[in-house]
Amino acid sequence: MIYLKTDDEIELLRQSNLLVGRTLAEVAKLIKPGVTTRQLDKCAEEFIRDHGAVPTFKGFKSPYGPPFPGAICASVNDEVVHGIPNDIPLKEGDVVSIDCGTLLNGFCGDSAYTFCVGEVDPEIVELLKTTKKALYVGIENAVHGKRVGDIGCAVQDYCESHSYGVVRELVGHGIGKEMHEDPPVPNYGKKGTGPLLKKGMCIAIEPMICQGSRQVYMMDDGWTIRTRDRKMAAHFEHTVAIGIDKADILSSFEYIEQVLGDRAI
Ligand code: MG
Ligand code: MG
Repeated sequence: MIYLKTDDEIELLRQSNLLVGRTLAEVAKLIKPGVTTRQLDKCAEEFIRDHGAVPTFKGFKSPYGPPFPGAICASVNDEVVHGIPNDIPLKEGDVVSIDCGTLLNGFCGDSAYTFCVGEVDPEIVELLKTTKKALYVGIENAVHGKRVGDIGCAVQDYCESHSYGVVRELVGHGIGKEMHEDPPVPNYGKKGTGPLLKKGMCIAIEPMICQGSRQVYMMDDGWTIRTRDRKMAAHFEHTVAIGIDKADILSSFEYIEQVLGDRAI
């Protein structure tokens, strides 16, 4: 069941998603060699709760293991998504994808950004840049009258033209009062296929892109998704509302990029 949102509901979704953007910016302030993802998680949870919201990831249930313990997913290097915050210090040259979700005034926010820790190999920076660009290439297709497959096809073509692997096992999703609503929004697909996009639909688009092969597996913790070939992965995510001529991006990287300044990719 795909729920179309009213303009008022879209504004509530925007508030929640802007809080996610501001939370990611708080996290961005701390990212440097030596910091642990548990410290990042604590910062995010405090910021979310201080702003009257709830971290939706915390306690999220999985059929594969215990509920998710963190307020953020922190996925380092060859971890693609769903990394559990831990006490291992980040080191120079790492990349860390931070995914964050909030519930504010009854509506969900969901957005993710992959950060460099200090100086990162230019080839890996290129992966990050391409994944971020792929997100916007996908968003260009998030317009009334197109289909979900148009988004996936655009993301896939763009990333595969750079010889990167596009993860199939995890996908974007509808979003609203629930973090995961219909329809699923794959990062691969065929033009003109899948559910019709209509004004008022709100979806999270989230390319998960691998430097090498697209093959991934779940670690024994029941959460962390990792590349099989141990090459790097990147993940960027925006929540958007389908518009008549263009998508309305409800989340924001602006706060993050203000913090990163000329270190923004
Ligand atoms: Mg997310
Ligand atoms: Mg999501």
